[in-house]
Amino acid sequence: MIKKSILLLVTIISLGLSAQIERVEPAFWWVGMKNPQLQLLIHGTEICNRKVEIGYPGVKILKTNRACSPNYLFVTLEIDAKIAKAGKFDMLLKQPEKQDITISYELKQRQKNSAERQGFTSDDVIYLLMPDRFANGDPKNDNIDSQPEKMNRSINYGRHGGDIKGIVDHLDYIKDLGATAIWCTPVQENNFEKYTYHGYAMSDFYKVDPRFGSNGEYAGFVKKTHENGLKVIMDMVSNHCGIWTWWMSDLPFEDWIHQWPALTRTNHKASTIKDIHASKIDKKQYSDGWFDSSMPDLNQKNPYFWTYYIQQSIWWIEFADLNGIRMDTYPYNDPDAMAQWAKAITDEYPNFNIVGETTIFNTTDIAFWQKNSVNPLKYQSNLPTVMDFVLQRAIQNCFNEHGKSWEDVGMNRLYNIIANDYLYPDLNNLLIFAENHDTQRLNEKFNGDINKFKMAMSLLMTERGIPQIYYGSEIGMRGNIDKGDGFVRQDFPGGWANDSINAFSAKGRTSVQNEYFNFMSKLLNWRKTKPVIHTGLLTHYAPENDVYVYFRYNEKEKIMVILNNSETDQTLKTDRFAESLDGKTSGTDVMTGKKYDLSTVITIPKTTALILEL
Ligand code: CA
Repeated sequence: MIKKSILLLVTIISLGLSAQIERVEPAFWWVGMKNPQLQLLIHGTEICNRKVEIGYPGVKILKTNRACSPNYLFVTLEIDAKIAKAGKFDMLLKQPEKQDITISYELKQRQKNSAERQGFTSDDVIYLLMPDRFANGDPKNDNIDSQPEKMNRSINYGRHGGDIKGIVDHLDYIKDLGATAIWCTPVQENNFEKYTYHGYAMSDFYKVDPRFGSNGEYAGFVKKTHENGLKVIMDMVSNHCGIWTWWMSDLPFEDWIHQWPALTRTNHKASTIKDIHASKIDKKQYSDGWFDSSMPDLNQKNPYFWTYYIQQSIWWIEFADLNGIRMDTYPYNDPDAMAQWAKAITDEYPNFNIVGETTIFNTTDIAFWQKNSVNPLKYQSNLPTVMDFVLQRAIQNCFNEHGKSWEDVGMNRLYNIIANDYLYPDLNNLLIFAENHDTQRLNEKFNGDINKFKMAMSLLMTERGIPQIYYGSEIGMRGNIDKGDGFVRQDFPGGWANDSINAFSAKGRTSVQNEYFNFMSKLLNWRKTKPVIHTGLLTHYAPENDVYVYFRYNEKEKIMVILNNSETDQTLKTDRFAESLDGKTSGTDVMTGKKYDLSTVITIPKTTALILEL
């Protein structure tokens, strides 16, 4: 009887005191990580004067630091990979004349070959989708009590109900299309009153938004995607958080975020990072200004925050079994901190890949951000992959342009861009794309001209780098960004129960949608099998009469690509390409199977691309 009462009392005390601890992040970790150190953020009422004790073999407390707020402790552990075993242990938070607080912590076993995981490469084609707009697989999570913004499909910036299950349900569609990797715009929680569907104002860095699903569902999605032979890239943001992030009401340190006397937005001038003439205020405003009134700018120079952020990135890779990260607004962050972040990740996972969003429109400045770039500032980013926004902008415009050979328009514009490739340290790690969720839709730009779309995709799938396509364009989706972002982020037809068209199946698609899809599927599935495209060398020829010709080649194979952007059929004399043809006198068009004689001349219809295997 006495024993029972004591037990009851102990239970009540421990329950009551556990409630004092609101968060421990990361919530768990692993044994056997290359970096033995782990910083725990512990958040709880008035815990700053507590002393932490751990009695677990192989786990040592290196230091315990208070923050400015009395409600935080930062505890740095060292986990000895040789001694520490996977399992749970207690951390005691002690203070004289107060009850001990017990926190149960777990070190998990790493998945087999976790450190060797393969990142996305130029073998892949990435399918970019917005989870809220792709498919609503689970109507039960459309509205969640704890999330103020409810589903409303009638407004284009509202939440439309798409979710993780919707992606899992249509993995076969993405696989049939021939994409080999999926990049979803952020799935992390965005707990805010409105405009949350895009995901870039995160309120909890360790939690999937419940309207998309749970952390477990996300990990399950990655597992199923892997079983289908596809890779997964997670979208992350380190530059800013959402104004409703849990720490905003109790910042650990004043400089956890950049604070200004009055709301100051970034000036979006990426050039200030390197500009020798830039004023200090412009530099500061670029890096430390807020992205938006609802997006506080995070301070990557605060060492506690930065360790927290690096660890959450590694936590997601390990927990969800990721193949890549797409990092938002890359240059807006502190450059040295980003170099440290990229190094920490690639030290832990040498074959992993990270692509930084480098929204910059000149090649020199994009190349600056790629790992091993040679630049006068001697800046070393450690970032494997950058986004080729120069090529992106050109693809959207050049097929609508026609000009003389000395003008930087049309095919000359493409030629001139590729001629700048000497600036890039690693051509195979350029993310190449024609559009994304922040740009005009390609088919809008082409006014629904499928021939132009085919030329653009023929280029994208045969150029150097890692192609990324944007959901919906493969069925001809249009939409004008000038009316608002939501107009290029429409619901995929067939993703909602009562949709009149189901474009996920050949039967459900219109004949026009099938023409788009079948073209893409054939092209992407062909590309999958072509190392010569993935890693081959490139030789190109100065455009003549609006026709651009280039070759991709390796020791085994040779591909000739001809883009006829002119408004008339064109006949080319093939002797001009002798150094690349190297005696080859015929080629087969990979899309139609038609054989072309290349011994003297070749005629290409207007607005047509030919991809010839020689
Ligand atoms: Ca849903």
